[in-house]
Amino acid sequence: MVGCQYIGPEQDPHKGPLRYCGAKTIEGRSYCHEHYYVVYKKGTSVNGRKKEKEIEKEIAELKRAQELEMDYD
Ligand SMILES: [Zn+2]
Repeated sequence: MVGCQYIGPEQDPHKGPLRYCGAKTIEGRSYCHEHYYVVYKKGTSVNGRKKEKEIEKEIAELKRAQELEMDYD
């Protein structure tokens, strides 16, 4: 399974292959919880802060669920 597909802003595709974050992703998403938030936050900056809070909450819940899951790995 492919991990988090986030590519750091400092990476230059002309200098070599891009490295994805590769961390365990949120189920059904392309990013880990950390980068899902980063990406989503960027995307919602126009839509206002309320949405941001909702995402923050959602990610906190997903993160907790994932941490619980990891105990069984
Ligand atoms: Zn990531």
